[in-house]
Formats: sequence, C-alpha cells, structure tokens
Amino acid sequence: MDMTIIAVIGSGTMGNGIAHAFALSGFKVNIVDLSQERITDALKNISRNLERQVQKGIIQMSQQTDAISNIHGFTLLEPGVKDADLVIEAANENLDVKLKIFRELDKFCKPSAILASNTSSISITKIAAATRRPDKVIGMHFMNPVPIMKLVEVIRGFSTSAETTKITMDLAVTIGKVPVEVNDYPGFVANRILMPMINEAIQCLHEGVAGVTEIDTVMKLGMSHPMGPLQLADFIGLDVCLAILNVLYQGFGNSKYAPSPLLVNMVTSGQLGVKSGCGFYDYSGGTKEAVVSKKFRK
Ligand code: NAD
Repeated sequence: MDMTIIAVIGSGTMGNGIAHAFALSGFKVNIVDLSQERITDALKNISRNLERQVQKGIIQMSQQTDAISNIHGFTLLEPGVKDADLVIEAANENLDVKLKIFRELDKFCKPSAILASNTSSISITKIAAATRRPDKVIGMHFMNPVPIMKLVEVIRGFSTSAETTKITMDLAVTIGKVPVEVNDYPGFVANRILMPMINEAIQCLHEGVAGVTEIDTVMKLGMSHPMGPLQLADFIGLDVCLAILNVLYQGFGNSKYAPSPLLVNMVTSGQLGVKSGCGFYDYSGGTKEAVVSKKFRK
C-alpha cells in the first residue's frame, strides 16, 4: 500500500514526536489538535528537537527544513484526515475520548485508510468496534521520546487483519523503528511490566521507605536503568501513568495493579510531571530537584 499522508491526532508529548519521526522520513504529516495554541506549541517543540538533532550531527540542516515543511497543523478533524493513508491517534488516554475520535475518523477517512492508536493500554479491539472497519484498526505504541526510541509495539486487535498488521510493521521499519507484534491484552507488554514497577516505586515513597532521589538512585545504579522510575513517571506524565494503571486494575481485576494513593493525589492536585512543571521533581527552574515532601506520604 502506498503511504504518503499520515495524520496524527493530538499534538502533545507523543503526537509531536510521532509527527517529527514521520516528517523526517519524508511523509506529509497533518497534525490535528483542539486549539491553534496547542498546534503552535507542538510545532515549536518539533523545531527545537530537530535543531538539537542537527547540532548533534544526527541530521543535516536540509533534512530539518524538509521535515518542517512536511508538517501542517489543523484544528478540525475532517480536513486533517480526509486524504490520510494512515491516521495515528495520540489523544489522551481515555476510552471515551478515543471512541469518539475513532467514530469520527471512520466517517471522515477514506475507506482504505488504516486507523492506528498510540494508546498505552486501552483495548484495540474495543476501539476497533467503534468503527465499520475493525480489520483496519491497529495499535501503534511508540515509546517516548519518539524521535530517539526505536521500539514500536504493534498491537493486533481481535479483528485486525494480517494485511493491516503487515503494512503497519513495514511502515515502522521504513521510519527506522523496530516493530514488535503483540496481542491485545490490557497494557500489552511494555506497560504491563513497566507500570507495576513505577507504581511500586511510588508506593515506596508513599510508605516512607526512601525519598525520591534515593529510590531513583537505587534503580539507576543498582539495576543499570538509565532513569529512575519516579523521574520516568514524571517524563511519561503522571496522569498517563494513572490512566494506564486503572486500565490494568480494571482489565485484570487484580489488586496488584491498584494505583498508589500518592499517585492519585498528585494527579488530582495537577502535579503531572514534566508537562505541568512539577511532579516528583520540580522542573520550573530549568534543573530538576526532588520535591515530593513528607506531607504526601502516609
Ligand atoms: P498529552 O496529554 O501530552 O497530549 C494529548 C493531546 O491530545 C493534547 O494536546 C490534547 O489537546 C489532544 N487531544 C485531546 N482530545 C483531542 C481530540 N478530540 N482531537 C485532537 N486532539 C485531542 O498526552 P501524551 O502523553 O502525548 O499521550 C497521548 C497518547 O499516547 C495516550 O494514549 C498515551 O497513553 C499514549 N502514550 C504516552 C506515552 C508517554 O510517555 N507520555 C508513551 C506511549 C504512549
């Protein structure tokens, strides 16, 4: 299948990274979000990240210019997706939001278009059932930051066809990624393993076993993780972590996935990590500093 135009729905942490990766590989990318302000922020982020790649000698300046000219922003869904060969939805991790978007995508997209979701945990089978083309609905779970991370978990829903799976796997290879095919279970593979670890780290903090820096240092130096679990949670977004844990908790009906009350409190109070300027660390001063104090603990 000839793929030329890719539409990305949602221009947040993941959407702008996905747009960046496809635009750099020569695809035309339409990025859709709810406001012009969000689109402008995303385009600024993409420019900054491309500039960083030029400075590190990863790409040429001409590639940066071409990539930027490949991206167009839209605040309305229909004009952004009507010509797309593939749509990748990267809106919030919320089932109702995704169902509404997929119903509309099914209406506005050409019949041949593949509809992918970058969901971290929500059932692809459930999302596909909101459309009249469940064979063309698939999970394309990119890792953060998308321009750097090689893995794409390709999630095959119950009705996803072998053809859709093959096209999606091939496309991931075309943009320099390594796709891994997995089946549709809550959290798939990546987050079924990662989120319980992050949740346990938060619970350690909540119970006063150790502080933020101490927990992250144990996991970095002791397990050779490049980033501690609390810093990683800030980076992913604490709201995203909470949403994924809730999907795991409800999906498996097992209390081992119950989100830590500290995580729930932080999300409720708007401390979402890097994107809100503060999570387990404070990012407002340009440097990161551990901030979660005793008042949040048990
Ligand atoms: P985010 O909050 O940074 O961005 C979400 C964006 O979607 C926002 O800009 C919002 O305005 C937009 N949006 C919401 N509803 C929309 C609609 N109807 N139409 C168009 N835009 C809409 O979230 P994120 O971290 O980028 O996560 C997006 C998806 O990617 C989620 O499903 C998440 O689980 C998944 N994911 C996140 C990470 C991560 O590390 N953050 C990693 C892999 C996958």
